Amino acid sequence: MVRAIVGANWGDEGKGKITDMLAQDSDIVIRFQGGANAGHTIVNHYGKFALHTLPSGVFYDHTTSIIGNGVALDVPKFFKEVGEITSQGVPMPKILISDRAQIVMPYHILFDQYEEERLGKASFGSTKSGIAPFYSDKYAKIGFQVQELFHEDTLRTKIARVLETKNILLEHLYHKPPIDPDELFNTLMEYKKMVEPYVCDVSAFLWKSIKEGKNVLLEGQLGSLKDPDHGIYPMVTSSSTLAGYGAIGAGLPPYEIKQIVTVVKAYSSAVGAGAFVSEIFGDEADELRRRGGDGGEFGATTGRPRRMGWFDCVATRYGCRIQGTTDVAFTVLDVLGYLDKIPVCVGYEYEGQRIDDFPTTQILEKCKPVIEVLDGWKTDIRGIKNYDDLPAACRAYIEFVEKQIGFPITMVSNGPSRDDIIYRTSTLK
Ligand code: GDP
Repeated sequence: MVRAIVGANWGDEGKGKITDMLAQDSDIVIRFQGGANAGHTIVNHYGKFALHTLPSGVFYDHTTSIIGNGVALDVPKFFKEVGEITSQGVPMPKILISDRAQIVMPYHILFDQYEEERLGKASFGSTKSGIAPFYSDKYAKIGFQVQELFHEDTLRTKIARVLETKNILLEHLYHKPPIDPDELFNTLMEYKKMVEPYVCDVSAFLWKSIKEGKNVLLEGQLGSLKDPDHGIYPMVTSSSTLAGYGAIGAGLPPYEIKQIVTVVKAYSSAVGAGAFVSEIFGDEADELRRRGGDGGEFGATTGRPRRMGWFDCVATRYGCRIQGTTDVAFTVLDVLGYLDKIPVCVGYEYEGQRIDDFPTTQILEKCKPVIEVLDGWKTDIRGIKNYDDLPAACRAYIEFVEKQIGFPITMVSNGPSRDDIIYRTSTLK
């Protein structure tokens, strides 16, 4: 059985925790898109970890952790991360890397920095991990697949050809030193040594595993609203964040994805620029940021303070629909326990008209939130295991959100640990 775990919002919904939890009964966990530009925070008996490229199943001995072809693989960062977890007592994970995954080149990271500098105020708020230049090159057909490292002659020729254009841009657009082809070749040979033991034909492995009845988990990065097609373009990421892309970025049949667990956070947060209708500011935002997540809402990769907002029913309804949600995991609910009243964005107002469907970017920028205020529960709900033991106002909040978004909330997360989870049977028809 293949399951996907994806985000409905702007990322940072708590997918890492849900993946770590569901990986318990999975044989294989795969990253199918993105790179080291976002992070998952995981808390378990080994400690607290910020993973960037490793799948969140790496903490179990029985799971195989896979880097799918859709991932932007930063080889040194990937192995640094492996070193970080093993040095903290986690057994060396079983890793496979797709021979068709492409490599984040050192110049992708440089171009990402230089371009953000060049754009100045109009920059995208990139994490400068090289992701946008990487995917641009992939689709311009000048990217480097992992398998190319094993064909040295053609690799040398291709490096020379690609550097012709890169060096013109470096010298004349960015006024930076050019790249030496031999040096780049040597770097890639280092990468080859690092990946060699793990490279394989991942789609063939998955085909066989699925036939054998293995449980496969596709782990998404970021969320629906950062998808390049369906998100808040251009303030999006450069690879698809949707479960549908899981089939492509891992290399398995779309019809095998039987369950799509969409992770939805009980309030909103976002990093980077872009429209954010339910955003809040000042002390109200500071307090939610400070209390949010597990130790505050700050980027797992950059440490940047996240932008904060109330729960957005319009964005989340859309985010769940575009994922093809079968189950919602509603997370970080415990954090809201300090509020007397909880504002929720239930609609948008655009030029005096109410809209309930998530619009395209230029309209979105002009939308104002329509707010409804619910009662808070004013208690700490961590440690509660049964849905019926939650305070009535807390259940009312969950059921209100479920009705608004129209997708069944089957899991409620009330703390950062693996076992802080409440399963529930949705009454939604
Ligand atoms: P991801 O990228 O979607 O995996 O999300 P992040 O890891 O960036 O953000 C989620 C943060 O919330 C992490 O610090 C988690 O440890 C934490 N977290 C996840 N679920 C819960 C929860 O139910 N309650 C609390 N308080 N923290 C949670």
